[in-house]
Amino acid sequence: MIGSMATSKRVERDGAGHPAPAAPEKRLFTPGPITTSRTVKQAMLRDFGSRDPEFLAVVREVRERLLGLYGLSTEHGWEAIPLQGSGTYAVEAALSSIVPRAGQVLFLVNGAYGERMVKMAEAHGIPSTVLRWSEDTPVDPAAVDTALAKDRGLTHVALVHVETTSGVLNPLLAVGELVRRHGRTFFVDAMSSFGALPIEFEAGGVDVLAASANKCLEGIPGLSFVLLRRAVLEKSTKTARTLSLDLHAQWRGLEENGQFRFTPPTHVVLALRQALLEHEQEGGVAGRGRRYRENHERMRSGMERLGFRAYVPKEHSSPIIGTFLYPEHPRFDFAAFYRGLSERGLLIYPGKLTKAACFRLGNIGQIFPADVDALLAAVPEVLAEMGVELSSPRRPKG
Ligand SMILES: *Cc1c(COP(=O)(O)O)cnc(C)c1O
Repeated sequence: MIGSMATSKRVERDGAGHPAPAAPEKRLFTPGPITTSRTVKQAMLRDFGSRDPEFLAVVREVRERLLGLYGLSTEHGWEAIPLQGSGTYAVEAALSSIVPRAGQVLFLVNGAYGERMVKMAEAHGIPSTVLRWSEDTPVDPAAVDTALAKDRGLTHVALVHVETTSGVLNPLLAVGELVRRHGRTFFVDAMSSFGALPIEFEAGGVDVLAASANKCLEGIPGLSFVLLRRAVLEKSTKTARTLSLDLHAQWRGLEENGQFRFTPPTHVVLALRQALLEHEQEGGVAGRGRRYRENHERMRSGMERLGFRAYVPKEHSSPIIGTFLYPEHPRFDFAAFYRGLSERGLLIYPGKLTKAACFRLGNIGQIFPADVDALLAAVPEVLAEMGVELSSPRRPKG
């Protein structure tokens, strides 16, 4: 009887030892990190050692599942290599590990993420050629064809599938077919499409692709990964320009003992496994893509009804994120707009365009049509607080 009562009732405590309050839930209309499910967060409530066989089995399962999402497998010559760090780390690991010293990359750029890859090449002294388009315009495959025909020195082509700067969807299949016909290596930054949009790995000649846990897969941030053909990987034993981002070494480590070379983000891996199970339950890539498209169309038409103008023409827009121009109204103030929505538990995202003042609304994560409706209901309230009245676009007569 003595002393046994004191420990029988467990109370959840926060890091300071205080009983944890129920956290207010915010809905994130952002491109990542995104709103995650409670079960994904709960999957992290375990501490694993980096060599624990149970943890290593989870790593193996996650690697297989990442390939399986698009029907790929190690038996068919593909590898999935997870890396510590956000998506940028995977992009940089891929570029700095697979392009040989004598290589040269053709970058197809129509936004900030394309420009980021160009900067990486500069940092690593990788020779590059850059083709640029405006931020509301998809990459034009014809220009890629011409560039590759003209310059035999271009060994690799790098494309951002969905340019999250604006949300524009680039023609992966058309570009990839050309890259393959010209016999070059095709790298894709599929950060904000992987898990929600079709990716034609075989028909589109994708050789190397980078993505991360915390976008359409709805995991938490801290883990990214590269999927690539083993044949490409095997040629890059000595091409890495850094130690920690060396893809071949990371792969060798995983193959030899199942471990990450350096401290693995154990909790993030556990969360990703749970997120992948939930992705499967939602109907895989097709099911997830369907919900995002529904969110996106509802958001876009709703915002247009309220008098906002979308930056990317509908036919070029991905269902991942929408970019809306600031209304031309003297009292519109983005900081106040953001604050008003945030006070209502709705987090939006600033713009990133070089030429236009805009903000972005993400359609990914644990966001459902009812959440979009909540945002669409809050927007006019916040505008009214600012004293901003928008005239709805005129309907065609008749
Ligand atoms: C999110 C994203 C990245 C990676 O950004 P991180 O902040 O490092 O996660 C890269 N490319 C695209 C297209 C993205 O949307």
